[in-house]
Amino acid sequence: MLGRQGAGKGTQCARLSRHYVVPHISTGDMLRGAVKERTAFGRKAKEYMDAGELLPDDVIIGIVEERLDKDDVRRRGFILDGFPRTVPQAVALTEITLPLGVDLVIDLEVPRGMVLQRLAARRVCTDCGANYSVTERPKRPWTCDFCGGDVIQRDDDTEEAINRRLDLYEEQTAPLVQFYADRGELEIVDGVGTAEEVLSRLVAVIDARQQSHRSAP
Ligand code: ADP
Repeated sequence: MLGRQGAGKGTQCARLSRHYVVPHISTGDMLRGAVKERTAFGRKAKEYMDAGELLPDDVIIGIVEERLDKDDVRRRGFILDGFPRTVPQAVALTEITLPLGVDLVIDLEVPRGMVLQRLAARRVCTDCGANYSVTERPKRPWTCDFCGGDVIQRDDDTEEAINRRLDLYEEQTAPLVQFYADRGELEIVDGVGTAEEVLSRLVAVIDARQQSHRSAP
């Protein structure tokens, strides 16, 4: 799933993961897990993340490659959220997933002006990564509805880091839209609307793709 920060990738991938019973693999959540465990790697990753910078390609590629080798992925497939974010990462993903490749790449499209507002209001669960906002709060004050974890503002959701991430998105990640369009793997989905509306658009696109794969000779 491609899309700007704040386009709703995390929220929608979590819902798609429940709908299709396919593991949701979020590089951001994996890195935040490492930060929380205070490993040496986690401390280094936090420096990049708080500055809004990307981790080096070889580091993140290694992490994803290891995750995609696990049993659940072999059995059920995967929904990738936050990877690839650069052309070298996309090239590596092609190699990692040989010979099957990926079925579908979705660009969840929300204009930059709108994601800025969403990110400033975003709040997340530190345990399970569930997304909330100042207007869509958890039922009990700042306690996650799903797992009881603390719901906070992310350290990298400062205006400065948000702007840096959005600039990097245009520079490094937006070219992937063309990369996947050229391979015939891309669908663009409008990410503006309620979470339910966006989910049904996504499900429609994914089901249509599954149908066409099934009927392919
Ligand atoms: P956002 O989409 O708002 O940037 P994520 O939770 O997806 O949030 O990622 C948070 C941070 O984790 C990124 O700013 C970056 O530092 C790091 N990160 C996540 N995925 C990647 C990746 N594929 N390549 C490099 N860095 C990554």
